[in-house]
Amino acid sequence: MPSDDTAPVLPPESGPRLRQLAARASVIGTDTTIRRALPNKQLRMVGAWCFLDHAGPAEFAPGQGMHVGPHPHIGLQTFTWMIDGEVMHRDSLGCEQVIRPGQVNLMTAGRGIVHSEDSLDADGAHLHAAQLWIALPDSHQGMDPAFTHYPDLPVWAQGGARLTLLVGASTGRVSPVQVHTPLLGLDLCSGPEGADLSLLLDPGFEHAAMVLRGQARVQGEALAPGSLLDLGSGRAELVVQMPADSQLLLVGGAPFGPPPLLWWNFVARDQDQLEAALAEWQPEAWAGPAPAAGWRFGPVAGAGAGPLKAPSLAGVRLKSAG
Ligand code: MN
Repeated sequence: MPSDDTAPVLPPESGPRLRQLAARASVIGTDTTIRRALPNKQLRMVGAWCFLDHAGPAEFAPGQGMHVGPHPHIGLQTFTWMIDGEVMHRDSLGCEQVIRPGQVNLMTAGRGIVHSEDSLDADGAHLHAAQLWIALPDSHQGMDPAFTHYPDLPVWAQGGARLTLLVGASTGRVSPVQVHTPLLGLDLCSGPEGADLSLLLDPGFEHAAMVLRGQARVQGEALAPGSLLDLGSGRAELVVQMPADSQLLLVGGAPFGPPPLLWWNFVARDQDQLEAALAEWQPEAWAGPAPAAGWRFGPVAGAGAGPLKAPSLAGVRLKSAG
């Protein structure tokens, strides 16, 4: 029987582009805006970066911060870049780690992990962060789960900006963040005088940029929070201008190839793998006898909210291209 996923995978257009794509804005809690720049109907991935949320800035009354209960992931790495605020990460490996501004948390889901995220909000809290997902290549989809906190990243000054190398290599510096495909993540913060600089890029990478705070001009294109600038591939240089007190996130990576499927918090190569993971997401069983050996999801000790419910895939046939 024919199904939608037999549709041909169109080869991605290569070469430089300069187009702004609107991020989809949504509000969580009372007033925390989340802008989802990836995936976008017109741009599924930038290298292996397959998901990009810009959350906040938001301020919470005491006790009202972000509390995301235990939920599972497979087939990806979650990458958190904290701009303002403090969030406690807990996971089913037993890791418990506070992330603070200027730090990265990298959680490798591999075959499966469960985590929770809670603002440290006893006295009120701030939240301003970028959360991204990195699709694992097919060779690493079933790898062991892991969690790593990176409190120190390469930081330098250039052209009036403070640059932080989140992932990959730039200007002879190398980020310690461990990924499994060639990637770039770079944060640029302008000082009180503004910034004007040129960056050397890997022309074999695709790139995109998003303003996190203030404004920027990238290759002459004026940017503000809420849109992603798709830069395409084949660029060896990038010209960036920023007024005072602005912040820009640049992501890039080697073309990933046919994009994987995304459903809820899962990334996989085919729908059977997604359905198998959904079938194993049974937090209601945590209170009962120990699950069968090899069960990939388990409880998170100390989480500040209950586990999340997965949306059903019944009747849905995901497309692998589009
Ligand atoms: Mn998550």
